[in-house]
Amino acid sequence: MAKLQRGEGEGGDLEKLRKGIAESYDESTGAWEELFGEYIHRGFYDTPSAAPGAAPLTALDHRRAQLRMIDEALAFAGVSEDPEKKPKKILDVGCGIGGDTLCLAKKYGAQCIGINLSPVQVKRAQELAQAEGLADKVSFEEADALNQPFPDGQFDLVWSLESGEHMPDKEKFFSEMARVAAPGATIILVTWCHRDLSPDEESLRPDEMKLLNKISDAHLLPAWCSAADYASFAKSLKLEDIRRADWSENVAPFWSAAVQSGMTWRGIISLLKSGWKTIKTALAVSLLIEGYNKKVIKYNIITCRKPK
Ligand code: SAH
Repeated sequence: MAKLQRGEGEGGDLEKLRKGIAESYDESTGAWEELFGEYIHRGFYDTPSAAPGAAPLTALDHRRAQLRMIDEALAFAGVSEDPEKKPKKILDVGCGIGGDTLCLAKKYGAQCIGINLSPVQVKRAQELAQAEGLADKVSFEEADALNQPFPDGQFDLVWSLESGEHMPDKEKFFSEMARVAAPGATIILVTWCHRDLSPDEESLRPDEMKLLNKISDAHLLPAWCSAADYASFAKSLKLEDIRRADWSENVAPFWSAAVQSGMTWRGIISLLKSGWKTIKTALAVSLLIEGYNKKVIKYNIITCRKPK
């Protein structure tokens, strides 16, 4: 297994990283919500080749695509809608302002908890839950995904959409998700990874590492691993029914949506209002796009089940 793990190894650095991530989301979440609504993740689209010459996508299409991402992930993992088997207790790890958490609570009528590092996001998520009349079903708290404040074996569905990127220790992150999962629970991780290595490679090429290092610095992404690495963590934790897929093509249209909305007057004003950290991250989106275009970064789903 070859991993790119860099940067924030020591305790003090970890604290600095957590603080940096919290502050960055405290600052940027208002702008993101204004531009894309309550989901801080990409949308799922039919692959570009499936719809040649299609009309340009509207903001509403992008929002639908974000919602579709949730349904596609649940379907990929085979989460049951059967009233007997559907998840009753769900954990959303790195929950943003709780868009997914609320959606899952409504879909399954489940009790849901969302955790993340940003107090501003937690507060906003609580407001949205209140506004949707879901405050008795859903709760949010500030907690570290690497050290979760829950006993073992609590949740029937452990969900993480686009938060794994920020985790400095991918193995610990994944093992915490597995620890809090109940026997028979499903674990769903949708995350950016670096590409899988071929059997004759021990690491990424130097030019690929250089690009990832630049992206890491700009976007507070302290470590990278591949989807194959996650699958091997799952295997070593004796998890079952391990599935994975590369959805990079399915999220491709979202990049231009992000760039286009950032370049409208409304986008520019929201960015300016939110502050320097957000502007810096927005300016570095081109590096991420380069990573995807060069196929160094992949958008992956990894799912598995905890044995009964
Ligand atoms: N899953 C959400 C938000 C994705 S944004 C959605 O799809 O809408 C990434 C989220 O990960 C942010 O909420 C950030 O606070 C959270 N996060 C990053 N590092 C974390 C950590 N170590 N522990 C808990 N949450 C973390």
